[in-house]
Amino acid sequence: MMKYQETVNQSAEYLRLTLPLMSRQAAALHPISYAVWYEYVAGINGPLKAAIDALTQNGTVLDEDATTDLFRKYIADIDEQKAHNVTAGFQKILADISQSAAHAGNYADQFGNALAQWSEELKDTEADTDSGSWIDKLVIGTSKMQGAVATLKDSLQESQNEIVKLRKEVDRAREDALTDGMTGLVNRRGFDLALTACLSEVNSSEQGPSLIITDIDNFKLVNDTYGHLIGDKVIRAVAKILIANVKGKDTAARYGGEEFVVLLPETTLDGARVLAEKIRSTIECSRIKRTDNNQEIGRITVSLGVASYCAGESPSEFIERVDNALYVSKAQGRNRVTLASAVPA
Ligand code: GH3
Ligand code: MG
Ligand code: MG
Repeated sequence: MMKYQETVNQSAEYLRLTLPLMSRQAAALHPISYAVWYEYVAGINGPLKAAIDALTQNGTVLDEDATTDLFRKYIADIDEQKAHNVTAGFQKILADISQSAAHAGNYADQFGNALAQWSEELKDTEADTDSGSWIDKLVIGTSKMQGAVATLKDSLQESQNEIVKLRKEVDRAREDALTDGMTGLVNRRGFDLALTACLSEVNSSEQGPSLIITDIDNFKLVNDTYGHLIGDKVIRAVAKILIANVKGKDTAARYGGEEFVVLLPETTLDGARVLAEKIRSTIECSRIKRTDNNQEIGRITVSLGVASYCAGESPSEFIERVDNALYVSKAQGRNRVTLASAVPA
């Protein structure tokens, strides 16, 4: 028996509802998480829905393990690798069929043309009418076959387009979930993913990764003096300066309200210090104007902490070491860069 009884239109609608939910989780987008969130949205699996609601009620997002657990407990006991292979295989088969349909179409075209030509030639030579009508039938049959192949080709192409479109939608939803709407920088989740990925690839070279944390000085005072809208403008201005100062594999992210991080996968501590200093002085020298009366607002400064990764450190230990350096910058009077101690705190 088919597990899912929804019509194509219904499942397309569920898919649209499922994508944003899925993308908000920490688990990757694959058939397992799709099945879990599909059944959640479709409302066809009460126990699963209750379990998800309980797990996510305080804003918790589902990671790989939680998602796989839900799948195993409430949907089916399945080998994860198998599920990945199935979708990849399905897409390949569809592509293959489409290609062979295209080939079949070409052959049918050629065959049909040859028959048509032959039929004309036979008529011209006034061959016996019996074989002429036999060939006419073949020609008609062939053209029907051509039509069927063309339809098949069209519908396969359509399915393929649909798959490409859905993949793009998944990518876009994923990207939205990892971007800070206000500044366009990577958000905290995106940064956490980038940091985890970066540390998992770390080798023993002395070339980083390094991390800079930047926090706007006395930002509460900016809000209190000029209002939140100007405060937002200042945040966007700082973000722009960060974007202008990172390149290649570097990731600039908005880590919290007025706090930013720059991950430099292939930069030494000294390189990171130079960049941090450049960011600090650029922000100190920039003049931000009020939108309403074009008046410059008071000098904006930032404090920064910088560290290079110590082998064996966890992501949170690494961040904590940079954070402690930032704290020293604040304590020593702000508008400065502090290097973290090299040994883990
Ligand atoms: P310090 O120099 O020690 O960092 O002082 P501070 O005032 O910058 O730090 P504090 O953490 O006390 O205040 C941060 C303020 O940032 C408080 C919060 O209202 C404000 N803030 C956080 N997010 C936003 C935002 O998106 N827009 C605006 N306008 N303000 C924000
Ligand atoms: Mg601050
Ligand atoms: Mg802060």
